Amino acid sequence: MNRSSSSSSFRLFRFALRTCLSRRLYGDTYHRYYCSESSTTSQSRVVQLKSKLASGPSFQDFIKISDKSHYACNKEYEEYYITEDETAHSLKGCMAEGLKFELLEREKLVDVLAGPDSYRDLPRLLSLAHGGQRASNVLLSLEETYADVMPVHRTLEGHSAFVSIMRGCDNMCSYCIVPFTRGRERSRPASSIVEEVRMLSDQGVKEVTLLGQNVNSYRDRSEEQLICSKGNTQLSRGFKTVYRTKQGGLNFADLLDRVSLIDPNMRIRFTSPHPKDFPDEVLHLIQERRNICKQIHLPAQSGSSQVLHAMRRGYTREAYLELVENIRKIIPGVCLSSDFITGFCGETEDDHQQTLSLLREVGYNMGFLFAYSMRKKTHAYHRLQDDVPVPVKQRRLEELISVFREEATKVNMAFIGSAQLVLVEGESKRTSEELCGRNDGNVKVIFPKTDLRVQPEKLQLVPIKPGDYLLVKITSANSQSLRGHALIHSSLNDRKSWSSKHLMSEPTISC
Ligand code: SF4
Repeated sequence: MNRSSSSSSFRLFRFALRTCLSRRLYGDTYHRYYCSESSTTSQSRVVQLKSKLASGPSFQDFIKISDKSHYACNKEYEEYYITEDETAHSLKGCMAEGLKFELLEREKLVDVLAGPDSYRDLPRLLSLAHGGQRASNVLLSLEETYADVMPVHRTLEGHSAFVSIMRGCDNMCSYCIVPFTRGRERSRPASSIVEEVRMLSDQGVKEVTLLGQNVNSYRDRSEEQLICSKGNTQLSRGFKTVYRTKQGGLNFADLLDRVSLIDPNMRIRFTSPHPKDFPDEVLHLIQERRNICKQIHLPAQSGSSQVLHAMRRGYTREAYLELVENIRKIIPGVCLSSDFITGFCGETEDDHQQTLSLLREVGYNMGFLFAYSMRKKTHAYHRLQDDVPVPVKQRRLEELISVFREEATKVNMAFIGSAQLVLVEGESKRTSEELCGRNDGNVKVIFPKTDLRVQPEKLQLVPIKPGDYLLVKITSANSQSLRGHALIHSSLNDRKSWSSKHLMSEPTISC
């Protein structure tokens, strides 16, 4: 058993936390999907409390703290965030349970620890903290989905929003702490999700990302009596699970169908899925609906069947590649992204080479690449040896990054000459002279700021603003982004007719 990397991770985390708390310095916002979920839920709670409670010290304190919230995430610990006011420090989210003893009892670094299923309890916890006690609630729930907490999105930059649809995970991958910090899978009722997406559409939101740890395992059994039972879950061919297949209720395809019909001019994305839950039914729906983005995150983790077995991922390299082929057959031109962990327990040089070859064979637009770092409580912590030396992990990670960049550059170069439909997010980070947005495949597109025609036959020029859809002709690309010049205002509905009637001289439109 190797626990050294885990304890050194904790020392690093403790040092970072002390620095944050003592100097009032916080890291940049660097959150992933589950952080967005925590953020959305926590902010929603503020709004709910505002409307339900008129006064009370715990409520006022909570508002004060939450309005000043900052994220302090790094690559090691992405699942927590810290809030502060003059008197209380709180740590909320997935990491609260795992760090309870160290941070609350031994080190006394925070006043409040709140797990991901305890946000309804925040007023009580903060009230205790302001009475001079340390307070915690890190219990996980089998039912909590915050379905009745309707978020009010306070900042809608780029007119995009996240909508949480399910929580937890039943998969038990051997390296992963999520099943222990987020609990068992449970899905929010479809009616509540549809209501939230409709509300976002009314507010002018143009892109919604459905969120969950295992988003495409979605199963809402709350409406079971009202609809035909769906029967067993259909898995991707060659994939298996460690849990019994789910039966009845609404599945992910049903939810995607309902959500995508709400507003044909609103893009729908989802993350993070598991590759086992991509039956043809879901793939055909993505292909048919113009507003469901042709972009799929397909976390591979490794290109070696031996490592995938040790990771308990439930598939082989061959099954994963067969799925990629099937996805590309049903959704031509789809953009794929993935996660990879290098240096997992027992990973040999040959296993590593197989991961490099998978990266080359598939050709992803986007990748999230990490060196393995052991987590307490996981299957790997109890049963496997973290036996790949840190310098070897680092070297393998650099090789993965290098191959990923090469391949992503090639994939993105294929966009050159096409006209991409881009949802504008705002000014680019480098200069106010340029704007940026994302194409259907979620690739960043940068282009000079200019005024554009709204319709091809009208000469009047209109400024571009965040939330607009534009056609952008792509002129160059690298592994991170595309560059081009804006052609005309557009929408999800009319881009094809404009392309044929008015943009004949321009290159082909693609998603
Ligand atoms: Fe669940 Fe595995 Fe994803 Fe962890 S890595 S959240 S266990 S599917």
